[in-house]
Parts: sequence; structure tokens; C-alpha cells
Amino acid sequence: MRITVEHLSYRYGEKDKNLTVPALCDVSLEINEGDFFGIIGKTGSGKSTFVQHINGLIKVQKDSGKVTVADFDLTDKKCDYKALRSRIGMVFQYPEYQLFAETVKEDVGFGLKNFRPDIKEDEAERLVKEAVELCGLNYDAIKDVSPFDLSGGQKRRVAIAGVIVSKPEVLVLDEPAAGLDPKGKEEFLQLLVKFHKTFAKTIIIVSHDMDLIAEYCNRAAVFKGGRITAVGTPKEIFSDYENVIDCGLQLPVTAAVVKTLKEKGVNIDCDFTVNSFVAAVKRFKDGGNL
Ligand code: ADP
Repeated sequence: MRITVEHLSYRYGEKDKNLTVPALCDVSLEINEGDFFGIIGKTGSGKSTFVQHINGLIKVQKDSGKVTVADFDLTDKKCDYKALRSRIGMVFQYPEYQLFAETVKEDVGFGLKNFRPDIKEDEAERLVKEAVELCGLNYDAIKDVSPFDLSGGQKRRVAIAGVIVSKPEVLVLDEPAAGLDPKGKEEFLQLLVKFHKTFAKTIIIVSHDMDLIAEYCNRAAVFKGGRITAVGTPKEIFSDYENVIDCGLQLPVTAAVVKTLKEKGVNIDCDFTVNSFVAAVKRFKDGGNL
């Protein structure tokens, strides 16, 4: 599903224009099917407001642009949001806070029954089991357990299972690695890579973590004050050091080292993933060019 956003603006508390600052200003962006797309920017730059437009959680305001997701025109009053939301999964920060049901089975199955009310019980359980196991948990061991009795990491996985149970083609995650330790973060991102290879053709990730963006995303957009200041590959974005710093962001570690070396007259060509950085250093050690 291709996502096209054209000249989108948004103002909270729309009625009182004198008192409010716009959260989004004339934002245009295309996200292609297949992208692992990063949305970056400091707090308050408009990232959450932007991504919530993609599944209609925030409606496009009158005369304030256009959002199209595949054939869904979100400016059309007749847009079928239920059908749209069954194809776009949203994972918010600390998704485990949204767990509510008495058992894991019930919690994960909730969204599925909402989107497919006619689904048969055994088919629903098959899909719930599949989702829980895709998230790296043993279904039979935890299906009847209260989600509140699980560990923090397990809770987050159960919450994600509840989103991916309908196999959304687009998965949007707002700061998904917040609060995880480095090992938990790496495991979690490997889970996203698995989803991307199987059902979630497009992944959109909102993050402050520039190392994560450099490592996993093929493209990203930088937000500042409700506007987009750059769109491109991580290599393109993080090579423009001045824009990144002007937007209040840090460089990924790889890009920071490349920048320091460049200032000392050593030019490294890499795409800022750790592997490409290490390969460039090895070329140097072997007497070749960086
Ligand atoms: P980010 O996700 O980058 O932190 P947001 O989209 O949450 O940015 O916020 C963009 C702007 O909109 C900020 O100025 C923020 O204070 C404002 N804002 C966000 N949510 C609300 C809200 N519910 N009511 C009023 N203003 C809001």
C-alpha cells in the first residue's frame, strides 16, 4: 500500500486559531510499499501527529491537504476506516500499558474479533497462536495467564501480537524500542525484520534513536517544527550534518566517527550501517581506499 501525503497541515484546538500553533505545516511525503521508513525529529516536531493521520486516528482538517493510502482517500467522508485499520497496525509507545483482558488469548484475539466479527472460534485461536509465537512466546504456556502477570518484555510482545494478529500490510510504530535495554532492543528489531519479510510489507518507525534509523531504515524523513526538512536514505540524511544538528538530533555513532575523520582529512564512504562502516575500515587496514 503506497502512502501519499500532500500538503498536509494540522492544528490542535482548531477553533481557536489565535491560541494554537500548527502541529504540521504543508507536509508532503510518499512512503512506498516495501519501505522500512524512519520518521525522526525532536519532541514536539509533529511526528506523532503525522503518523496518526495515516490510519485516520487524526482526521485531515478541512482544506488542510490530502492523505491517500492505497485506494483509501482519507479526506473522503465515506472512507471506510474499519477496512483501512484492519490493514494498518499501530503500535504506540509502551504498548504494554494498553493490555486489558483477563488472559493473553483474549487480549490478543480482541483486535481480530473487532475486524472480523464473523470469524470462527478455532480459526481465531489458530491466528492468535500464530501471532503469539511469531512474537517469540510459547502460546500454550501463556494463553490462559493474565497478561499482567508476565514480565515486562513478555507484556510488550503480547501487546504487539494483538496488533499483528490481523497481519497488517503496514505497521506503524511510535518509539517502539523505548525503555528496552540494548539486548531487548536488538531482539525487538529482529522481530520487526521478521514481520517485514513476511506480512508487513511496509514498516514506519518513529524514533529518536538515530543508530536504529541508520541500521534498519532504507529511507527516512526529518521533522522540525511541523515541517519536513529532509527525506532520503540514512546515508543522504546523516551526511547533511548541519541539518541533523539544526533539527536538534544527534548523529548515529557511525556518522559521528565518519564526520570526525573527515575533519582530519580522512574520507570514509559507507552507508552508516555498522557493517558497511566496519567493511570500510577493513579496506583501509588492508591498504586500500576507505
Ligand atoms: P512529536 O511526536 O514529534 O513529539 P507531536 O505530533 O506530538 O510531536 O506534537 C506536535 C505539536 O503539537 C507540539 O507542539 C505539541 O505540543 C502539539 N500537540 C500534540 N498533541 C497535542 C494535543 N493533544 N493538544 C494540543 N497540542 C498538541
